[in-house]
Amino acid sequence: MAEDKAHVWHPFTPMAEWCAPGHETLMIAGGEGTYLIDSNGKRYLDGNASIWTNIHGHSHPTIVAAIQKQAAQLAHASSLGFGSAPAAELAARLCSFFPRDTLTKVFYSDDGSTAVECALRMALQFWQQNGAPQRTQFVAFDRAYHGDTIGAASLGGIPLFHKRLAGFGLPTLQVRELDALTSLAKDQLQTIAGVVIEPLIQGAAGMRTWPSGMLRALRAWCDRHGILLILDEVMTGFGRTGTMFACQREDVIPDFLALAKGLTGGTMPVAVTMTTDKIFEAFLDPKHTFYYGHSYSGNPLGCAAALANLQVFKDEQVLEKLPAKIAFLNQRLTQWQSTSNSVSGFRQCGLIAGIDITQANGMNFDPKLRMGAQICLKARHHGLLTRPVLDTLVLMPPLCVTESQIDKAVSALQWATAEVLN
Ligand code: PMP
Repeated sequence: MAEDKAHVWHPFTPMAEWCAPGHETLMIAGGEGTYLIDSNGKRYLDGNASIWTNIHGHSHPTIVAAIQKQAAQLAHASSLGFGSAPAAELAARLCSFFPRDTLTKVFYSDDGSTAVECALRMALQFWQQNGAPQRTQFVAFDRAYHGDTIGAASLGGIPLFHKRLAGFGLPTLQVRELDALTSLAKDQLQTIAGVVIEPLIQGAAGMRTWPSGMLRALRAWCDRHGILLILDEVMTGFGRTGTMFACQREDVIPDFLALAKGLTGGTMPVAVTMTTDKIFEAFLDPKHTFYYGHSYSGNPLGCAAALANLQVFKDEQVLEKLPAKIAFLNQRLTQWQSTSNSVSGFRQCGLIAGIDITQANGMNFDPKLRMGAQICLKARHHGLLTRPVLDTLVLMPPLCVTESQIDKAVSALQWATAEVLN
């Protein structure tokens, strides 16, 4: 469509290539269950759940009906000065997923980046008004990705995305793994406001999984040194790893929990930063008011969609059905790897998978060849849409995916890989 090339600046996209005469823009016109439908009516499996957002499939009738009903009643009223029933109900529902008196407060924003940004701002202000204003530094992990606002991006550890911001953002100490924290000097520990991590699995790093038990050990380290733990479950939340939230896998309760993407089932931009009474109460004095928020904070339409999303989890016993799908995906990827000399390995956490494509001798391809991108482009011809992280192919379908669709999705990647490499 000419208007797209003429006027739309796409995110994370080399635009010269996009606007080149030979590039044909795939226009998505519809969605139905696990499928996306282009403007010519061709159907594709949504292999990355529309950048990791979709949960129960597109146009799910329960979510569509909830949005329609809410839109007819009230699309938006400001949370600055007013409440709305959908936002209040959703906050209570989200808190009910965690043990009593743990995560009890919900602060609304719009996206994953703002949910993280908000946790950072709360943590900094918490220390300013709690006798430790020198705690101004955050710890984040190598190859982390926490969003694109300057605060959230200063935690980022992916050179391609984050090098332009060097020196502009919040002071951040980047570490490779948990062990690196144990060697920090006592004085330095006193300057740390919080540690931020994508629990169980780092997404934009290429679906890198953390060793089992790491999250629990990190919680214990934070407790020992009085440092706040911020969990970014923007990708891992809402069943993606097999449990509702990744932190439940290691019985960890963070001081802040950032949720977005799947919160509305992949329909509306709503995000939350959840926290504890301890943090909340430190802001009660009027001079400690948290002066932060967005025009659409607590948007009733989005909150209604999120409530419907949670309802579908119950109605369709979504979590209960996951183990069989997760096992099937594992079996299918193991089979591919064992019969291919272009898959050097894969990592899987729940229904999230990253598949590494390398040369037959196990060496990486020259990044300039953009093999991952070429394979994903080719996979479209086999009815699959997804986006790689460099030469790691990503499969993260909506949770409603069936075993036969998983089989089709893996086959599409297999064929596309063979075609590109031959
Ligand atoms: N945190 C993580 C772990 C993410 O994967 C992302 C987005 N991919 C973000 C934060 C940022 O979310 P958003 O794009 O909604 O701002």
